[in-house]
Amino acid sequence: MANFRFTALEKTLDRPIPKVEHPKLKIAEYFGSMVFNQSVMREYLTEEAFSVVMKAVEEGERIERKITDQIASAMKAWAMGKGVTHYTHWFHPLTGSTAEKHDAFINPLDGGRAIEDFQGGSLIQQEPDASSFPSGGIRSTFEARGYTAWDPTSPAFIMEHTLCIPTIFVSYTGESLDYKTPLLKSMKALNDVAADVCKYFDKNVNKVYPTLGWEQEYFLVDMALFSARPDLVLTGKTVFGHSSAKDQQLSDHYFGTIHSRALAFMQELEIESHKLGVPLKTRHNEVAPSQFECAPVYEEANIAVDHNQLLMHLLDKVARKHHFKVLLHEKPYAGVNGSGKHNNYSLATDTGVNLLSPGKNTKDNFRFLTILVNILKAVHDNEELVRASIASAGNDLRLGANEAPPAIISVFIGEQITRTLDEIEKMPSRQAMNHNNSKNVSLDIPKIPEILLDNTDRNRTSPFAFTGNKFEFRAVGSSANTAKPMFVLNTILTDQLYQFKQDVDQLIKEGNKKDDAIFNVMKRYIIESKNIRFEGNSYSEEWESEAAKRGLSNHRTAPEALKAFISKKSVEIFSKHNVLSETELMARHEIKLEKYIKKIQIEARVMGDLAINHILPTAILYQNRLIENAKGLKEVLDSKSYVKLSRNQLNTIKEISDHIASVKDDVLSIVAERKKANNIEDVYEKAMAYKNNVTVYFEIIRYHVDKLELLIDDELWPLPKYREMLFIK
Ligand code: ADP
Ligand code: MG
Repeated sequence: MANFRFTALEKTLDRPIPKVEHPKLKIAEYFGSMVFNQSVMREYLTEEAFSVVMKAVEEGERIERKITDQIASAMKAWAMGKGVTHYTHWFHPLTGSTAEKHDAFINPLDGGRAIEDFQGGSLIQQEPDASSFPSGGIRSTFEARGYTAWDPTSPAFIMEHTLCIPTIFVSYTGESLDYKTPLLKSMKALNDVAADVCKYFDKNVNKVYPTLGWEQEYFLVDMALFSARPDLVLTGKTVFGHSSAKDQQLSDHYFGTIHSRALAFMQELEIESHKLGVPLKTRHNEVAPSQFECAPVYEEANIAVDHNQLLMHLLDKVARKHHFKVLLHEKPYAGVNGSGKHNNYSLATDTGVNLLSPGKNTKDNFRFLTILVNILKAVHDNEELVRASIASAGNDLRLGANEAPPAIISVFIGEQITRTLDEIEKMPSRQAMNHNNSKNVSLDIPKIPEILLDNTDRNRTSPFAFTGNKFEFRAVGSSANTAKPMFVLNTILTDQLYQFKQDVDQLIKEGNKKDDAIFNVMKRYIIESKNIRFEGNSYSEEWESEAAKRGLSNHRTAPEALKAFISKKSVEIFSKHNVLSETELMARHEIKLEKYIKKIQIEARVMGDLAINHILPTAILYQNRLIENAKGLKEVLDSKSYVKLSRNQLNTIKEISDHIASVKDDVLSIVAERKKANNIEDVYEKAMAYKNNVTVYFEIIRYHVDKLELLIDDELWPLPKYREMLFIK
């Protein structure tokens, strides 16, 4: 029997480290060199066109056709100067990855010649025949037209000789079929409301936008080993594999020296990212062996989301050259940490203020506390939606497994702010806050910053933690499109600030001073949102029971969590702020459930195939060897010695036989359960059937296969083992 494992293992030995193609320039000299950014536009556009684009970017104004022609022609000239031959609209359909359809810059002429051509019309709109993208029934295939439309707020870029133009993707009837549309709409909604709220504190604020700094975790595995594991190839995770004697127990990988093979990969990744304007800044080893993280400097959320999608693409592309495969699955290996994508979130103003940065004076801190408390209230009132925003089959394996936050959403704010909020809660009026003298440190608000920055980031177990000048949403899955948690946060915060504005204005109307009105509403919100605050160990069992007492949800599985998207309340919030209509929410909900079902279906099939066609034949082969051996012993030994000496072999034969029988039975059961589940019409019921009746066999089958791995001769085992995959050679 061919054993690909050994061929693969041999390939990993002495892999030469590919030469990193360094531009031999300072980073600043090539940063953004492949981006049609502001400075390129200044160079290539007329003054008029440039200011129109800037207005579109900053104020969302429409761009006239005449100007788009000019922009298209500038883009073409710039891109052709860099060897570009094709252009594509680049969008984020609901598959979760990015989509492209390339067209050449050509227009045939008479006489068999052609000229390069790219008009404004092709820049602003395209109609890909995109009938195979998930649409949740919004767009039936006979009416397959959907169109992509240019998003001028995210700059075009060049990748592999192709000009990529970030676009939204909507159905012909106007429903969004992507992640970017609701994100942009949520940013507009948030801006409209938040700018008004900011005006309570500073009349000069005209624009408020969310900022996002993601931290991306991933695993690297040698390409040859990856290819010898059909489960990794088809599902992104290992369905079998006994744990390695040593993995992460010694915490010797976390922040350790980066292996030179991994480092060369990272350097090349950074160079490619920097050329595309992705401001990667941080790289380090993560907890599990061969697990890593990279993080950029934060950006405006729409750009940051595009950059994260781009980075996930680059990870894969650069890895190929370095004979690695990047695993973005949330739980590629059982028994060691999985991967997440922390989303650092804040709000910024056009006056250059980070609204979650505690100010240097009482006035600024009043503004800071107002925003902070509104976020607490928004998460409190919509905790189920926040949970739903990160739900996926992969993330189910990570949440609540003592390595990532639980499925319960709570907010950590740290001791200092807790104390401040507690004191505000007890204060009869705002005057008490101002007249408080320096004895009272926690209310001497200007003193917060220094203490704060040192004291916050302590609690690593919280899913949503305030970390000094931003919130860190830590429950996002590593493979997720971050637009989703972002548009959910933006929308619930929009709704909350909208309510806040109404509440404050009402009190002002009743004769209260503005600051008193703000104070009183804030105080009420602090009390009302108290249940969402948790400073303790979120991984503990006590928290689970405490959270249940508080009435917080604990949806352990994606199908249960996803329900929140179609609740009456969600439909109201999303439609009120014009982010997603009821039809769109229903469609998305269905797509998500379908995806969940398909992922489990694929995993079950892969497991069945590996078990029956790879593992059992190996087990039987080894079993036969042991049987031959026992027979031989019987021939050469006297019967007394035989009974004594063959005991171990006979026991092993029996053990192997038991595991073989169990695997066979369980695979038959899983097939039967899948068939039953497939007959269920209702998509939610079907997803739950997959969850309850199919996934239960995953662990059982795995248990027996992993036991077989321990019993069978290493020479025969067909799949690369954990100890071989987890350590980079
Ligand atoms: P760590 O969490 O590892 O201590 P930092 O707190 O410095 O590191 O930053 C983590 C991430 O948070 C980075 O991507 C950073 O850009 C981002 N970040 C910092 N400030 C903000 C902000 N105001 N808005 C959004 N993200 C931010
Ligand atoms: Mg962090």
